[in-house]
Amino acid sequence: MKIIFTPLELKEHLKEVHKTVGFQGSQSIGFQGSQSIGFQGSQSIGFVPTMGALHEGHISLIKKAKEQNDFVVVSVFLNPTQFLKDEDLDTYPKKDEADKKICQLSGVDILFFPSADAMYGSDEVSLLAPKVRGYVLEGFSRPSHFNGVLTVVMKLLNIVNPTRAYFGKKDAQQLNLISLMVKQLFMDVEIVPVDTVREKDGLALSSRNAYLTPPQREEALKIPSSLRTASAMVSKGILNSKEIISKMRETLAPLEIFYVEILDRDFNQLSHVEIGNTVILVEVKVGTTRLLDNIWL
Ligand code: AMP
Repeated sequence: MKIIFTPLELKEHLKEVHKTVGFQGSQSIGFQGSQSIGFQGSQSIGFVPTMGALHEGHISLIKKAKEQNDFVVVSVFLNPTQFLKDEDLDTYPKKDEADKKICQLSGVDILFFPSADAMYGSDEVSLLAPKVRGYVLEGFSRPSHFNGVLTVVMKLLNIVNPTRAYFGKKDAQQLNLISLMVKQLFMDVEIVPVDTVREKDGLALSSRNAYLTPPQREEALKIPSSLRTASAMVSKGILNSKEIISKMRETLAPLEIFYVEILDRDFNQLSHVEIGNTVILVEVKVGTTRLLDNIWL
């Protein structure tokens, strides 16, 4: 595994990867019969962007990228522009050495570890999240968060130029906005959603779980419990969103709730669950830690 620290060095390195692979087509040119012009397919590159403190959730993204591509790049970059002023940028868990080991053991080809200075200048061009979808749910309590997310993902995708990029369904709004960006800006990358990995007791893995004290971790189990409640209601044929949300809120009490929503896959509100087209999303505060989770039905 190679570790690279600057965008230019990574771009240079990936030029070679983009060039090579066995398949050669030949094509007839000119009047003198056919001649191989050495048309080469390029190797597929799978890319997994992360903020580090890697866990099994990240590892499942890497595994999927390994399965589907010839070459895998992982980035570990704690992106300052997606944190609001009073948020946890300075205390966000950092595990650089462990992250390197995990990437090495997972068969990652390149680990990209840039500094903030390598990624940003002083007077920056940046992207703006869409005015509606970027400012509901997490974007409502964290305005400008998704501007930072979209800008850094755009930068990273431009640096790596991957065939496919992998994002967790756990961050459903982020996944939705990145898919929208790729579609609306006509970008040539496939966004691959990956299922949420959970602890045995149902808590979704998150780097921020490290902030939880043992009693808070116990309280946090109300989140998967509320989602199980919703899923059980739907299995019984109760599809009314208001009814489901009200039961979920009861399950989550007394946690501070940012939102409980039932949306379609394009993030429009649904009055009734539509099987195959629904995401049920929750975000709560446990102690001082924001935790989010969702299920796709
Ligand atoms: P982060 O380091 O938190 O920015 O996450 C990097 C990527 O890993 C994002 O695409 C997340 O959605 C994804 N991810 C985080 N937690 C999980 C999880 N428990 N299961 C699957 N993917 C996850």
